Amino acid sequence: MEKELSISATVSDVVNCLRKMCDVIHANKEYLTELDSAIGDADHGTNMDRGFQAIAKKLSAPVDNDIGGILKMCGMTLVTTVGGASGPLYGTAFLQAGTALAGKQELEPGDLLVAGEAALKGVLMRGKAILGDKTMVDALTPAIAALEEALATGAKAAEALEKASIAAETGMTGTIPIQARKGRASYLGERSIGHQDPGATSSFLLIRTMAETAREIGF
Ligand code: ADP
Ligand code: MG
Repeated sequence: MEKELSISATVSDVVNCLRKMCDVIHANKEYLTELDSAIGDADHGTNMDRGFQAIAKKLSAPVDNDIGGILKMCGMTLVTTVGGASGPLYGTAFLQAGTALAGKQELEPGDLLVAGEAALKGVLMRGKAILGDKTMVDALTPAIAALEEALATGAKAAEALEKASIAAETGMTGTIPIQARKGRASYLGERSIGHQDPGATSSFLLIRTMAETAREIGF
């Protein structure tokens, strides 16, 4: 049997994916804010869009030839521009992913898991939420588990990310029937039941974008 060519994602693939994330957040700004108006303070879409538009601006200038460095730049940008609970959380996620990929100019499928696990660990440490608290953790945790499982069976990155995206979507809709125990929505107690968590929704959108990009570039 012929050895398969090893497939990797380049710095420009990562920049391309980040640009798409900025577009997706922008396109879903109203939707995310609408979700946050039901159980929060109606700013998740505007918070996220502010942060990702700031990233888009930085990506329009020349960037480092280092994937870790680029992700850290994104993390710093999110920490300083997004505000709310989600700014430090997504900021930490990107900073940790960037630290995990420091110095890399190419990614192999396994690097996605290394970065994803680091990002999730950062969110868990920073926000102290656990699975089932009705937060972004409910989308991120099953996504990383699905990514790990798929990569362990030798799946391509696109296929593994597609599984992660499906798991994130299931986790996202799974936030609807449960009561919030972390963040602003927890102040509503039982009245938070019946609404989809905005942060779990933005996490799903970001993971779906990664899956779509990986498919497009044949990663
Ligand atoms: P804020 O709640 O400060 O207005 P956002 O509206 O931007 O901030 O973000 C709200 C989202 O942040 C929630 O939907 C939830 O997914 C996420 N979130 C809030 N607190 C936590 C936490 N402790 N851990 C993980 N995610 C959290
Ligand atoms: Mg809010």
